[in-house]
Amino acid sequence: MAKLYFRHGTVGSAKTLNLLAVAHNYRQQGKKILLMKPNVDTRFGKERIKSRAGLEMEADILIANESSLKQEDYSGVSCILVDEVQFVTKEVIEELRRISLDFDIPVLCYGLRTDFKSYLFEGSKRLMELADSIEEVKATCHYCNRKSIMNLKHVNGLAASEGPSVELGAEEKYFPTCFKCYRREIEKAQIIRQQQTKGCETSGTDRGQRSQSKELHPLS
Ligand SMILES: [Zn+2]
Repeated sequence: MAKLYFRHGTVGSAKTLNLLAVAHNYRQQGKKILLMKPNVDTRFGKERIKSRAGLEMEADILIANESSLKQEDYSGVSCILVDEVQFVTKEVIEELRRISLDFDIPVLCYGLRTDFKSYLFEGSKRLMELADSIEEVKATCHYCNRKSIMNLKHVNGLAASEGPSVELGAEEKYFPTCFKCYRREIEKAQIIRQQQTKGCETSGTDRGQRSQSKELHPLS
């Protein structure tokens, strides 16, 4: 029986590079593979699967957000690889699960485990429930040397753990972090936001804010 794999990691953990290396190996052996990605990920152009290291390949199938997978012909396929799997629906994951069984094709899914608010993505959640194998692609925290488990989002240079997934007109960046650094950065940003709001109303409250900052960091 072919397995369903979930290989998760934070941003910058070289998941796509890992996927492209697997794809390259299969193709070098003359084996047929299918590369899939959700069509919501358009960072590098719709059909491209591109790693930050620069490697790229064309996706064979774009998974539509609103629909499940089409009835493709899977005969002769040695492996199915899915990039950015966190963005696909639970129905698509269930279909991938079925394909791995009915066609006896290993399905390797790569993606983020949780969003910047620390909650599981829909696709990742269903994979946690259904995958035969769950593996972590490890990366180091942006701020220290611990393993990263969180995806910290910066909106206009400030850490954010709330708000919409995409803020139009805002500059958004993601950093891999451990939980300790994640919490510290979120708390730091909260204090800066409070100061910015207060700064509009009063001035010269620096000392008060410093003692408040201590209260917000009881364990650091
Ligand atoms: Zn850290």
